[in-house]
Amino acid sequence: MIVQTVTAYFDNAATTPTDPRVKEEMQPFLDSIFGNPSSLHRQGRLAREAVDIARGQVAALVQAASDEIVFTASGTEASNLALTGLVQANASRPVHIITSRIEHPAVMATCAALERRGAFITRLPASRDGLIDPADLAAALRPDTKLVSIMTANNIVGTLQPIAELGRIARSAGILFHTDAVQAGGKFPMDLRSLPVDLLSLSAHKLYGPKGVGALYVRKGTRISPVIHGGGQERGLRSATENVAGIVGFGCAAEIARSSMAGETVRLVALQDRLIEGLCSGQLPAYLIGHRYKRLPGHICLGVAGMEGEAMHLLLELDAQGIAVSSGSACSSHHLDAPSETLLAMGFDPVRARGSLRITLGRFNTADEVERLLEIFTKILRKLRPISSRAAGPPAELPAAEGGGLQKSASPSAFKKHF
Ligand code: PLP
Repeated sequence: MIVQTVTAYFDNAATTPTDPRVKEEMQPFLDSIFGNPSSLHRQGRLAREAVDIARGQVAALVQAASDEIVFTASGTEASNLALTGLVQANASRPVHIITSRIEHPAVMATCAALERRGAFITRLPASRDGLIDPADLAAALRPDTKLVSIMTANNIVGTLQPIAELGRIARSAGILFHTDAVQAGGKFPMDLRSLPVDLLSLSAHKLYGPKGVGALYVRKGTRISPVIHGGGQERGLRSATENVAGIVGFGCAAEIARSSMAGETVRLVALQDRLIEGLCSGQLPAYLIGHRYKRLPGHICLGVAGMEGEAMHLLLELDAQGIAVSSGSACSSHHLDAPSETLLAMGFDPVRARGSLRITLGRFNTADEVERLLEIFTKILRKLRPISSRAAGPPAELPAAEGGGLQKSASPSAFKKHF
């Protein structure tokens, strides 16, 4: 077994450490309570009861009803079920789907696969800040549009989309709306009683739960077909014996996220602002990518002017000092040389689109770790690229992000208002 400790972990968008309280809650379901939830004996009934409790906890995180939550094996599978399930439920004629150019591969690759099977896909552009313009969605609607799928928060730049507005446009045209909320889940309040969203994907390992468990919210009355066939678990939408321990962990993680959200958002935004100030106020050549305020709390995407080709070098230097950051997204480690599709869609050239660093703060990061990151990062930058006394910001050809400047982030209530 390889056991390696990381001094300071700043890659919480790739995955989060499992909260010790979650592990404790899961343990009995890896030991003594091992029954199959479909079994009728006491062991089975205990497992079923635990799955039902967890379903309620995940539902409460997004203000849904318990029977609107379908457990899956991942966020990726949840989005596959939403999109492919919708197309299969409309199998009699080709379907038009509107999505964006900045989606995670869970949606992007599913759309490409559906396109090969005859679906029509429209991919909306993003602004320099990484925002989808609702007017573009309204203009892309067609009589055969059956689904709009736009992510709640982007996994590379952290930008929050105007989901309520986009959903309203879809709903007023009688079109279903799916959102990949894998990055956003548990980070700010979401109320599906009022949000015009019909399908929503979540993943446990992004909110301090275990890997290998996800969920799809399916609004009552929304018709999708299963993509995995078998014993009919999860109301027939996702056959397979339930991952009971994982689901229990997901429920516990959702409950903790819900109850600690308000305080945690304030803390993360303060740490994020300290980092942005320290890195992007002009002393260093680093610049912030993505919208200054409409972003996930604690999510920073950086470019380093003149060093975009060396992001991997920076990442490895930081790693050698015990600091874990990302060069874009975990998935990009499969395509080390490929520029980020998200940054390309935001208008970055291929060199810059290959060269971002992502620093994502989480529950277990401390103010001391942030100071250590600032100190080490500054030293590394000065070593790799002697800094001139002139203030360095984004390259001149990059227009300043909307709402630019380095004022403090909006308060947590702004997140609420956003939705
Ligand atoms: N969607 C987004 C926005 C993500 O960031 C990720 C993971 O990075 C996924 C989907 C995939 O989730 P999972 O790892 O649970 O399959």
